[in-house]
Order: sequence, then structure tokens, then C-alpha cells
Amino acid sequence: MRAELIAGRFKMSYRPPRNWIERIAAGLGVIPDGDADAPAVSAPSLPIQLKRYPSPDEWDDFVEYDAKAWPRRAVARHYRLVPTTCFNCESACGLLAYVDKDTGKIRKFEGNPHHPGSRGKNCAKGPATINQINDTDRILTPMKRDGPRGSGKWRPVSWDDAIGDIASRVRKALQEKRQNEVVYHVGRPGAEGFMDRVLRAWGIDGHNSHTNICSAGARFGYVITTGDDRPSPDYAHARFILALNAHFESGHYFNPHAQRITEAKVKGCKLAVVDPRLSNTAALADYWMPTIPGTEAALLLCLARVILEEDLCNRDFIERWVNWRAYLQACHPGRAETVEEFIAAIRAQYDKYTPEFAESECGVSAKMVAEVGRLIGEAGSRFCAHTWRGAASAHLGGWEVARGLAFLHMLTGSWGTKGGTSPNSWNKYRAHLINPPPPINQWNELHWPRDYPLAHYEMSFLLPHFLKEGRGKIDVYFTRVFNPVWTYPDGFTWIEALSDESKIGLHIALTPTWNETAMFADYVLPMGHGPERHDLNTYETHSATWIAFRQPVLRAAKRAAGIEVSDTREVNPGEVWEEDEFWIALSLAIDPDGSLGIRKYFESVKNPGQPLTVDEYYSHIFDRVEGLPEKAKSENLTPLDYMRKYGAFQVDSSVLEKHERKLTSKETRGAHTDDQTGVVTKNGKPIGITIGGSIVQGFPTPSRLLEFYSPTMIEWGWPEYTIPGYIPSHIPSKPEDYAEDEFCLLPTFRLPTLIHTRSGSAKWLNEIAQRNPLWVHTNDAKRLGLRTGDLARVTTEIGYFVDKVWVTESIRPGVVACSHHLGRWRRRLDPASSRWSGSVVEIESQSNGKWRMRQVAGPGPFASPDPDSSRIFWREGGVPQNLTHGVHPDPISGMHCWHQRIRLNPAQSDDRCGDVMVDTEKSMQIYKDWLKKTRFDAVQKTGLRRPLWMKRPLRPTDEAFSIQ
Ligand code: SF4
Repeated sequence: MRAELIAGRFKMSYRPPRNWIERIAAGLGVIPDGDADAPAVSAPSLPIQLKRYPSPDEWDDFVEYDAKAWPRRAVARHYRLVPTTCFNCESACGLLAYVDKDTGKIRKFEGNPHHPGSRGKNCAKGPATINQINDTDRILTPMKRDGPRGSGKWRPVSWDDAIGDIASRVRKALQEKRQNEVVYHVGRPGAEGFMDRVLRAWGIDGHNSHTNICSAGARFGYVITTGDDRPSPDYAHARFILALNAHFESGHYFNPHAQRITEAKVKGCKLAVVDPRLSNTAALADYWMPTIPGTEAALLLCLARVILEEDLCNRDFIERWVNWRAYLQACHPGRAETVEEFIAAIRAQYDKYTPEFAESECGVSAKMVAEVGRLIGEAGSRFCAHTWRGAASAHLGGWEVARGLAFLHMLTGSWGTKGGTSPNSWNKYRAHLINPPPPINQWNELHWPRDYPLAHYEMSFLLPHFLKEGRGKIDVYFTRVFNPVWTYPDGFTWIEALSDESKIGLHIALTPTWNETAMFADYVLPMGHGPERHDLNTYETHSATWIAFRQPVLRAAKRAAGIEVSDTREVNPGEVWEEDEFWIALSLAIDPDGSLGIRKYFESVKNPGQPLTVDEYYSHIFDRVEGLPEKAKSENLTPLDYMRKYGAFQVDSSVLEKHERKLTSKETRGAHTDDQTGVVTKNGKPIGITIGGSIVQGFPTPSRLLEFYSPTMIEWGWPEYTIPGYIPSHIPSKPEDYAEDEFCLLPTFRLPTLIHTRSGSAKWLNEIAQRNPLWVHTNDAKRLGLRTGDLARVTTEIGYFVDKVWVTESIRPGVVACSHHLGRWRRRLDPASSRWSGSVVEIESQSNGKWRMRQVAGPGPFASPDPDSSRIFWREGGVPQNLTHGVHPDPISGMHCWHQRIRLNPAQSDDRCGDVMVDTEKSMQIYKDWLKKTRFDAVQKTGLRRPLWMKRPLRPTDEAFSIQ
């Protein structure tokens, strides 16, 4: 809680007494001996008001006293407080920008109490947004390369010239029917629907994302069981929480979830964390279950068996909402079709998964497994669980982890309940977009290859391998908040593809800061940070539905002061723009006469012939949000003005049990019910299910039930995986399978104060954490003769990296771990960037695919307008370990399986910290080896590229799913 002295409530002539620290400091001369000289200041009349946040009544003119003015006292500063949302992870927590009315600059960011997800709180990365805004290395003007690609030579270019050049190239590709050669590749999407609109209007299947290196494993496990691909845990009301991730640190949804887990724990909820590493979350848990990596799915089956054996199942939920009948019919024909028979059958099915099996297979004590299983069963519908990254993104078959959790929800009846876990789609708001373009009728096999028909989603990390293999080429490649050279596995293969103009014709990087990928672009276009652009946000942070408005705060401040701004560049630093206005301008330039059918989607509906404005675009959305127009009207505001003023709106405070919603007669008009299954279809698509004489919504699976048994897996060539199971990882689980110096490398965890590329320019965050040493258990370190601080060489399938060792008890023996958020780099020839975090490197490439990187200078003081840049005390920026990882695409989910089998040895005499060596010919071979795990023939037999019932981004027409 923050104490604030409220202006105008002071007694005069009050001189506060100095505390003992101030007295000592004054005695030492560190601060002026000021009591005598200090001006008397106003003293608070009692009682002092304690406030958490300034009230919205004060947002137009909030007065705060300037701490930096000291020793002058009571220097009042006047601020206009403007809401926006944080962009330093996906959570989109609310921020309040303090815009100084005298300077017109943003002074700081604090939390927005009106945001339903974050409720006024932020993690360290939220307030650090001010560092990104004030970063002296940021890009302020469009740049065009001025030498060979990757040569480090750049020259400024005008926005008009850049847009003209790019537009003519896109236009030519579209006119020549090369739609699949235009690609938009996004790392962190921020907006809901805007880019789909652009790509639909252009008529291209051009969306690519980062999902396969992040969450495809978890998504597939959830979708194959529940029809939705993300969980929305109702932590606040849970009685037992099971987390299979380093959750508080994992970013999805860090601060909003952490608040609610804490609330639940205060109310007596128990927390179990499954993680081979003692994460911050695990350290606060009631049960830490440090599994042998890759055995987590087996552990979940053992927990399920405890529930089955101890008769803790929710029989009624299973009977009503699980497709048990399909399982009995397919796997136990002739057996009575009752739920009791089903429970008996699966009890036998999972008989081997005893707590003792868990102890031997997973390395977690049988006693703990039995205890946790019982507590989950007893929590019943208030059992809450989550997995994101962690084991689901680490292993071959890691998707079975999410499926195992969904299985536990089925048994306990906790899917869609208060205190349970719901489908994410229930808590995400679907915006009504203005003048929407129709779905595309294209399919881009560079993103959605037939080899991976069930992938969630685009096979983005294989893009350079596909290009090298000759599967296609890209003519125009937009990258946005996307830095695969640094964040993806096998970054040197990305460099090879990005450097080759025959594979990628024109690369446009949309980014606020230079990064390792932008160095290999043709244009680098400066886009605003979160508080410098528009986005609509809605996320499943809890069991409610909300929307939030990311807005350029200086533009909103001008508007509140009565000054209209029609182009965000007018208020942003330099020539920094925002995506929405950029895409509108580019689309209009691609189709200047409307002959391509694109222009009409980027013209105003209200003022035909004029460009669509962001105000019209967002007004259309906000005017249609249930309850928002009424709420705005009660304050004499338009819905857009309400969102500009408060930044967020809660659409629904509680969204639970939607599967039980009865469909309306309008919804069921013209629908058909299948007599056997009860599935209700309309226009060929399932819309609900008849249960007990009522037509209810159900879940978005083919059966409208939770699918314990999945016919889809048979249809698509994986009959051995029809029910929740345990697939051995590509990383061995038995100690006898490892040589003396071999380990499982866990490279997926993140430090809670860092976030991919974006935190590189945040000085406060880099002051907190700068290095990513290798975590090695005490016993292993002793065996190998390693001590904390020693240099070690970590050898992977395609090369090695050299890092310092941190000896700790906080990791399971046999496992080593390295955080992936450090090791930013630039070459000497590159523009200065993110110097708070990055190292200067020399890269040597040989023609046979061998690459060597050596750090020649770490972070250190540098001259800039920010005096803090001369105070950098750290000299190391970490090691870019991902460069040394070969690609491991799971043949079903498409997830890159992050864990690596490595050899760990003391460094060699000429090794230096940060050294990296990679052989991309080997990495190409590893790609081919993993490609062989797919079942291409089975896909061909379906006649489809993907199951029609499964979601995909930028979903094209059903016809586009057909294999011609
Ligand atoms: S959790 Fe932290 S980084 Fe993520 S949106 Fe919230 S404040 Fe920003």
C-alpha cells in the first residue's frame, strides 16, 4: 500500500524530524545537513489518507510531489493519468501512464486499478515500460539496408518511400497469383483480429506465428480432449491447484494468475508444482514434485489411478460429459454400456500406474503421489490445473501432459466449474469488426505442411529448413515482435535463410528496437512500444470476460486536452509509428484504384473514399460490446471515450458451465439431431448435443463431449494414442541410458523479470538479472569436478556452448538447466542496440555449415543522454544457448521438443564464456530425422490437410482444407 499526501491538506511550518539513517548520512556529508536550511514544508493534517491509487476524478490533474527535486521540498508536479496496457508479456495488464503536463512526456507507469485482470498490480516488467520508451538505442526513423543483406549498412528512408516500395512488391505478387509468397510472421501478437483482417483483405494465407516453439504441445493435448486449446483456471476459488510449469515465471498469465493463486492459498487451497527445477513457484508450493524429465504424463496417469482406486470420481459428470460410450463400443464391444462399466474398464486400463510405479518411473515418492492424488479427488469440481511451456513443450509426446490434466478434470468433474478450469474461449471476448473481409480460400503449405496436419499451429520453426529444402520461397516477409535468430532453436539456419535473397526476396522487420533478426532485414520500420500504439486485448486471466484498450497515451492525453491527433506519428518519438495505421496506409497503397478488391476494407464506412481511422475502427467494436454503451452513457461518454478514459471494461464477471447452456430456438432452427450420438448439427456443423431431452451447447469436439476416447487419432494415423497415455520422450528417463557426462538440459525456464527480446532495452530489468549460468546439482558437480563460477562446455547434437556453472540443490540430479532469456548479441558492424543487455560478438562462418561465435565484449558503461548508461556495473550478458539446439518437431502436435540430451564437461583451455559452435549441416540432418516420425500416408488418405473441426489461426474456407 502506498501512502500519498493529498494536495491541499497540510498544516504549514512543519519540519519533519530526520530518522537515524538521515542523521548519519548528514553527519557523513552524504546529504546536506539540511534541517537548519531546509524549507519548512506543509505537514499533513491528521489523519493522513492512505490510498492505493489516484481516483479517476483526479486523473485529469493529479498532483504528486517530486522526489527528485530534493532538497527542494513540496515541488508539485501535475500529471494527466492515461490508461493503456502492458506489452511485456501476453497478460496485457493495465498500466496508467503519468503524463507530465509541463513537459508533455511520460514520467512513469503504474497499475490501472480498473483493469479486471490485473486489478492495479503489475510485475516488475510493467513499470519498466518507461525504460523501453526512453531507451536511447531505439530506432526512431525507417531504415533501409545500404549494402549486402546482413552487412550492417543502413540509411534512413522516408515512410512514403518505404511504403511505396513494399506496396508495389506485394501488389505484383498478388497480381501474379503468388499469394503464398507474402508472409506476416508475428512473435507476440498484441491485437485481437486486426491482422486477420489485413491478411483476409489481401486474400493470403500469410499468417505465421511462434506457437510451435511455445505452446503447441499443451494446445494439442487440450484440443484433442476438450475441443479448446487453452485452459482458463479459476484459481481464486480452487481447493487444489496442480501446475506443470514454472508458472509464476512463465508469462501466461503471470501477474493476474499469481494474484489469484495467492488468494486461493490464503483461503487454504493447496498447491502442487511438477517441475524438475525448484522454481519460485515450486518453492512456495505445498508439494514440489521434481519429476524425471519426460515422465510427467505417467505421473498424471498415476494420480488418475489414485482417484479411480479411491472412488473419488465424479460419476454424474462423467456420465453426462465424457464420451465413455464411444470408448466402450470401440474398445470393449459387448460390455454393458454403463458408466460403472466404463469406470471399471479404465481402472483396469491404468492398473499399472500405481504410486509405486510413479516412484520408480517418475522419481516422485509414492507417498506424495498417493497424497496429491487423494487431495485432487477430494477437491472435486474445485480442482484447478494448468500447464504451459514446462513438460508439455519439452518432450516428444509432451502433449500427453495436457491431455492427462484434462483426464483429471474429467474424473473430478472440474472442467468448466467454479474453482476448476474452463476452456479459454469462454473468457475471451470476440470482437465485432467493421466491414469484415471474407475468409481466404488459400492454403500455404510452407506454414501448414501436410506432414503435420494436427499441428498447433504453423510449423514456424521449420520455415528455414523448408526453404532450404526447396519447398517454396517467400517474396515479401514481414516480421513483427519476432526475433527467431535469437529466440528459436537453430538460429544459424535462420541466418542462412534470411541472408539468401533467392529464398526470401524482401524482409521487412517491424520493431521498436534493433535485434538479431532485424540485422538481416531490408527495411527496419520503427513501431511503437505498448503505450505508443492501439490494440484490443482480451485474455483468459480468470473466470470472467474483459476487454482492454492498449492506446498511445500521448495521443490520448492530447485528445483529453482538446487537441485532436489524426496520425500517431505526431505524438510518438521521432518517426515511430503504430501497426494499425501502418497496415491501413500500406493496404491502400497496394490497391490504389481498388482493382484488387483490397481498398474497400481500409476505407471509412462513414466517409466513403477516406481512409479508415483507428477511431472509427475501435468505435465500431466498442459500440457493440454488451453493456459498454450503457455504462459509457451513464457517464455521458461514448464507448470509445469510456475506453480511452478507463482503459478496460468487464463484459461478464463470471463465466462458468457454458457447456450446460440450453440453445435457443433460433439457434436450433433447421438443425438435425443424430439419433445415435445426440449430436445436433446445423449446416453440416455440430452446434450442440441433446442430453436429457434438452439441447445444450456442450464442448467443441466432434462428439460435443469431453473425448476420453479420440476417433480423430485413428482417422489421422495414430490409433495407438486414442486415450490418455504416456509416450516415452526423446530424452531417456533411465540413468543407465546416460553416459557419465550426459544430462538432460532443461532450457525452457525464464527469469520472472525478463521477457524475450523486449527486456533487452529495459535498464531496470537488466540491473536485476544479467546472466544465465548452468544450474548443476551438487552431486553432479562434485562428480565432474565443477564448482560455482567454473566454465563448462555443453555439447548438443549440433554444436556446443560455453557457460559458467551454478552449483545448487534446486535442480534434480541428472538434470541441468539454463534460462533462455539471456545472451543477446550484436556484431561490431551492427547498430548499437539494447546495450544494457547485449554482448558484442565475432561470428565466423565456414562454407560447410560451421559457425563460430565468440563474445568480444559484454555489457558495460556507454555514453548516452541517459546518465544511468555510464553506471552499468555488470560485464556479462549471458549465453545464447538456443543457437546450439537442433529442431525437434513432435510429429503430432508440431511442438518443438525443447529438452536436449547434452554432454557436460569442464571447458577446454581455449574456451571462453559465451562461445558457441554450430554445424547447420548436422541440424538439417536432425530436421530430416524427425520428419521421418510423421505419418504422411495416413494424411493423404483423409483427403484433408487438417481435421475440419480443429481450430487454426486465420481459418480459411472449408474448401481450402481439401487436398486437391
Ligand atoms: S504480467 Fe508483468 S509483463 Fe505481463 S502484462 Fe502484466 S505487468 Fe506486463
